[in-house]
Amino acid sequence: MKKVVVAGAGGFIGGHLVKALKGKGYQVRAVDIKPLNQWYQVTEDVDNLILDLKVKANCYQALNGYNEVFNLAADMGGMGFIETHKAECMLSVLINTHLLMAAKDSGITRYFYASSACVYNGDMQTDVQNPGLKEADAYPALAEDGYGWEKLFSERMCRHFFEDYGLVTRVARFHNVYGPHGTFDGGREKAPAAICRKVIDGQFNGKKDIIIWGDGEQTRSFMYIDDCINGIQKIMYSDIKEPLNLGSSEMVSINQLTDITEEIAGYKMTRHYDLDAPKGVRGRNSDNTLIMKLLGWEPSISLHDGLTKTYNWIKGEMLPANGAGADAKPHSCNCQ
Ligand code: NAD
Repeated sequence: MKKVVVAGAGGFIGGHLVKALKGKGYQVRAVDIKPLNQWYQVTEDVDNLILDLKVKANCYQALNGYNEVFNLAADMGGMGFIETHKAECMLSVLINTHLLMAAKDSGITRYFYASSACVYNGDMQTDVQNPGLKEADAYPALAEDGYGWEKLFSERMCRHFFEDYGLVTRVARFHNVYGPHGTFDGGREKAPAAICRKVIDGQFNGKKDIIIWGDGEQTRSFMYIDDCINGIQKIMYSDIKEPLNLGSSEMVSINQLTDITEEIAGYKMTRHYDLDAPKGVRGRNSDNTLIMKLLGWEPSISLHDGLTKTYNWIKGEMLPANGAGADAKPHSCNCQ
C-alpha cells in the first residue's frame, strides 16, 4: 500500500487531494499548520497532523514512516494577498527546503511540488492576447515578485535534490485553480470565487453594482479542481523530470468570467472598474503542447461547467440553511 503525506492538506487543493488519494486506498497522512477546525475539508480515517512545516524538525516528524510526499503547503492567496505579502510568500521557501531535506534523509521515494504560473517571465505577459506560456518561458527569469520567485527557487531545489541526491521529484506549474471547498472571502480568494461571491451577494441582497479589479480586460485561464487533482497524480507518477504546466488553455478576460457567472446566476449587475486594485499580469494562458506530448492529456473541464458547480457551492455556503431568498452572509472586508 502507498503511504503518502499531503502537506498543506487543510487548504483548498490539499483537501481535495487527500480525499482522492484516500479513495484510492492509499494510507494518507494530512499535515497543515492550521487548527483542524479551519481546514476546508477533513477526511476520516486519515492521520491528520497539525505542524508548522517551516520548522525542520516538524518535517522529519511529518514524513516519518511514509514514502511519498505531495507538497502543497504555502502561505498564499490571490493577487490581493501576494502583491501585499511578499515576505510572507517568500518564507514558504522554508517549507519546501526542510521537506526536501527530510525527504532525502527519510527514504522518500517520490516527491511532488506545487509550483505556479507566477514563475513565468512578466515581460511575456504584457498583452491580453497571450498565446500561452510554454515551460521554457520561465527563463530568463523575471517571476512575479515575492511569490513567483519563491516558487521558481523551490522548483530548482527539487531539480538539484534529484541531480545531487537521486530524490525523485516532480513539479507542476498550476494555473489558477478553482472549485468548491476553497476560499471565497477574507482576502486570499481568487477571481472566480470573488466574482461568484459578489454576484450572489448582489442577487440575494438586491445590489445592482459590482466592482471589478482592473479594467476587466486582463486575461487568464482557470482550471477546475477535478482536472487539477487528476493532473497532479498523472505528473507525480510519470517519468517527467522537468516542470510541467498544469492549467486550462481556455483563456478568458475577467469581463468574460463575470459574464459567465452572471449567466449562471441569471442576474446582471452594473460594472465599476477599480483601476488601483491589484491586478497582476495583463495576459496569461497555459500552453499545453508539452503535457499533451508527454502525457497525452490536458485539463478539459469547461469554465462554464466548473463555474456552475463552484457558484452553487459558494451560494450554499453564503445563504442560511433556510434556503434561497434569504440574505447572503454579510461581507465587509476589503478583499477582491
Ligand atoms: P491554500 O492556501 O488553500 O492551501 C495551502 C495550505 O498550506 C493552507 O491550508 C495553509 O494553512 C498551509 N500552510 C501554510 N503554511 C504552512 C506551514 N508553515 N506548515 C504547514 N502548512 C502550511 O492554497 P491552495 O490553493 O490549496 O494551493 C496549494 C498549493 O498550490 C500552494 O503551494 C500554492 O502556491 C499552489 N498553487 C495554487 C494555485 C491556485 O490557483 N489555487 C495556483 C498556483 C499554485
